[in-house]
Amino acid sequence: MERVSIIVPCYNEQETLTDYFKEISRVREQLSCMDCSLEVLFVDDGSTDGTLDMMRKMAEENVWIEYLSFTRNFGKEAAIYAGLTHVSGEWVGLMDVDLQDPPSLIPEMAAILREKEYDCVATRRVNRKGEPVIRSFFARAFYKIMRRVSEVEIVDGARDFRLMSRRYVDSLLTLKEYNRFSKGLFGWVGYKTRWLEYENVERAKGETKWSFFKLLMYSIDGIVAFSTAPVRFAAWLGLGFCLLAFFFILVIIVRTLVFGDPVAGWPSLVCIILLLAGIQLFCLGLLGEYLSKTYLEVKKRPIYLCRETSLEKDG
Ligand code: UDP
Ligand code: MG
Repeated sequence: MERVSIIVPCYNEQETLTDYFKEISRVREQLSCMDCSLEVLFVDDGSTDGTLDMMRKMAEENVWIEYLSFTRNFGKEAAIYAGLTHVSGEWVGLMDVDLQDPPSLIPEMAAILREKEYDCVATRRVNRKGEPVIRSFFARAFYKIMRRVSEVEIVDGARDFRLMSRRYVDSLLTLKEYNRFSKGLFGWVGYKTRWLEYENVERAKGETKWSFFKLLMYSIDGIVAFSTAPVRFAAWLGLGFCLLAFFFILVIIVRTLVFGDPVAGWPSLVCIILLLAGIQLFCLGLLGEYLSKTYLEVKKRPIYLCRETSLEKDG
């Protein structure tokens, strides 16, 4: 009999928890017919509403439900990491609580893992129905850039919703980095992954926790975490401008020798100075991104702090 542990990060989700509980209870029954047991670990990511109270109550009433609560909001990535370190099932699942990840797929995922050919069954949305157009546009652009600049494969439309084997999870946990970009880490560890596709489902209740700006920052984090291409780009850009400068020096020398030295060109000089200063600052900024990430990394601060949990031992 296999044990399936599902990790569910929650941040201010009092509206969706009850519906999720109903759905996952149904899935638990289906799984028991397949000779699998199911347990759920809710990770409360510093919610400020009634989420934690609801989790406490659910954990009291159901032995198969556990929860873990952070001291403040550490972000979904931290919640995922905390979940992974605390669950012990042979198969480990990861999903959102807002029912955008259909729980009904879990039995199918478990059946695939049971055949032992794949170590991970992941999901991707085939469309972005119901999502704002601008958001979809930037999301697509991000995946396109990412595919070009990073060696790790990041699939367009991939969700965090997935079921993983124990060894896959253990491999994920060997990556101890502070700046966690799970979409990249999943690809980095390798193994064979089977992709299931489904149509985009809109959030059941409540609101998305991701503003456009938060998503933009997240995508920059992703690029910095999985590619050094921007810094290399800065170096090439610098080289290009050096070559251009040499060319113009030659032009000016020849022109002065042939036509003498008329003092002119103030506007063009201003343009050149502004352009170069802009490019230099931009490249400094790029370097700064990498440096700041390194700074956070060497401080070795914990990824999350746990305030309260229903699990006996806290790791
Ligand atoms: N979430 C979290 N911490 C955060 C933001 C979100 O744990 O700081 C959880 C949230 O409760 C949900 C999941 O991550 O279960 C996905 O969030 P959301 O539905 O807001 O994102 P979207 O589906 O719009 O990308
Ligand atoms: Mg959602």
